[in-house]
Amino acid sequence: MTLLTPEALQRLARRQQCPLCTGQKTMDAALCRRCRTKLPTHMRSNLEGIQRRDPSSVERALRQAALYIDVHFSSVRRFGGGKKR
Ligand SMILES: [Zn+2]
Repeated sequence: MTLLTPEALQRLARRQQCPLCTGQKTMDAALCRRCRTKLPTHMRSNLEGIQRRDPSSVERALRQAALYIDVHFSSVRRFGGGKKR
């Protein structure tokens, strides 16, 4: 992932598509509500109100979130849960 510049952060805050699941997200949040509810609280808080946040901490939070969701869902698939949410 490239370094998140202040400009890229503003663009991310304004765009309406979630970068992880292509769902609709709200303004000023890095991820959509669906993705955010999958995350632990301490990860989620850095992905909300991102226009006021430090780009590097948002970037770190985004990377952790992507990893977290990826690991969670691939383990679900591996164990045959297969239930899509
Ligand atoms: Zn999403």
